[in-house]
Amino acid sequence: MDENGKIRLTPFRPWPAALVLIALLTTSAMGSAAAAGALALVQNSRATTASGAEFVACGEYVRRANSHMKSIVSTIDDVWGAHVRVYQSVAMLPPHARPGGCVMYNPAYLRLLLEHLMIRDSAVVDAMLYAIMAHEVGHEMHDDFSPQRAALPSETRELEADRFAGYTMQRLNLGLDNITPYYSLAGDEFTGAMTRPSSRHGESMRRTNALRKGWELGEWNQPEDYHSLSDDD
Ligand SMILES: [Zn+2]
Repeated sequence: MDENGKIRLTPFRPWPAALVLIALLTTSAMGSAAAAGALALVQNSRATTASGAEFVACGEYVRRANSHMKSIVSTIDDVWGAHVRVYQSVAMLPPHARPGGCVMYNPAYLRLLLEHLMIRDSAVVDAMLYAIMAHEVGHEMHDDFSPQRAALPSETRELEADRFAGYTMQRLNLGLDNITPYYSLAGDEFTGAMTRPSSRHGESMRRTNALRKGWELGEWNQPEDYHSLSDDD
């Protein structure tokens, strides 16, 4: 859940020249219908996988999000009148936000995370997905890639994204009790971000406190950014 954009593009692997040459030579020897078929096969084997075609969104190789994740993010968007888009990252990375209004998740990573946390109740899985993706949408809504925000300690940005997630959960009438034991574990401890100081999410207690703080602000109809989170929050 690093919003710092430390994502390196996976290199695009073009067909080796020799293969292309063979394809072209073979094509010229075949009838045009057969050639079209062969080319389609080649293109398909590159462009599609079990999970769909790859393309670039917000500077990262992605695939289309599945309908469930799309519906989660559009529900979160609706709370804020936002237009954040969600994609599957091709790279196996923790959920993250990208400059340009994209939030990303990797299904294999999420599966491992949920297995690691031993969450089996599908209602809890869903609530976790809402909270995680709301945190990422929070980075977009807080404009965390702007120079002003980027100048803040990353822990401040992360805790404010947690608070945003809590606020969003309240607006969606999704209780926090089910997910509080897991939420903080979905951060630093699991992702290994502690070794990368720029992406620290704060200690577990501070993270769940920020989440709860957001929920309460929502309940009291206060603005989401009512006041900045301070050390005694
Ligand atoms: Zn974050």
